[in-house]
Amino acid sequence: MRKPVIAGNWKMHKTVSNALGFVKELKEIQLPSDVETVLCAPFLALPAMVEETRETGIGIGAQNAHYEEQGAFTGEISMPMLQEVGVSYVIIGHSERRTYYNETDESVNKKTKAAHAHGFTPIVCVGEVLEEREKGQTGEVVTSQVKAAFQGLSSQEMKKTIIAYEPVWAIGTGKASTAQDAEEVCSLIRKTVAGLFDQSVADEVRIQYGGSVKPENIASFMEQPDIDGALVGGASLKPDSFAALVKAA
Ligand code: PEP
Repeated sequence: MRKPVIAGNWKMHKTVSNALGFVKELKEIQLPSDVETVLCAPFLALPAMVEETRETGIGIGAQNAHYEEQGAFTGEISMPMLQEVGVSYVIIGHSERRTYYNETDESVNKKTKAAHAHGFTPIVCVGEVLEEREKGQTGEVVTSQVKAAFQGLSSQEMKKTIIAYEPVWAIGTGKASTAQDAEEVCSLIRKTVAGLFDQSVADEVRIQYGGSVKPENIASFMEQPDIDGALVGGASLKPDSFAALVKAA
């Protein structure tokens, strides 16, 4: 049995006080304990959020981190820095980072390994752009991203990794994938993981769908056999909407 996992990706939204206000409101809402609940916030808000969510079961994640432990990388944040403040998750290879900050399959692989080396649960994003979907290349693109991202991981590391399938054309557009199309790709991802590792690893790894998930459509994704949760941008920005997603999972 794979535990469902709902992760909010706040992107570049919320000051420290906004983030704390959100968490305080969320704590007033009874969330199901059988759903893993994660908030991935801007770096500055992370220490205060870790403190505020102690003993709540809500996990806190970063949206990126460098693969090197330290060095001349102006403006970057490393995994040990996040580890010290008690962050538990890190999103790696989000399409916005691949598009705007030259994140590559190679850097995604290095970051995934670095995340495991520091005890994080990485949420590794893969997904095709619209042109690739229209050319019928979705399977090929996603398979190749998965193979590159997880090359050299141990089976234990792979089992702990969360994969987020996020078709790029569905992110922030209000045009979610159909649940059937998302299931088809998530099932292919699971088969790819089985090929890279073995079936028992593939059976344990959790795969999220992401792309315009809302309280109104999440159930259709969660019904799918290979979808174990969601990575959510816009609909994670308000406590009541985020709580509704967690409850519906
Ligand atoms: C995301 O940021 O990963 C995302 C899926 O955004 P949205 O839910 O807004 O489409």
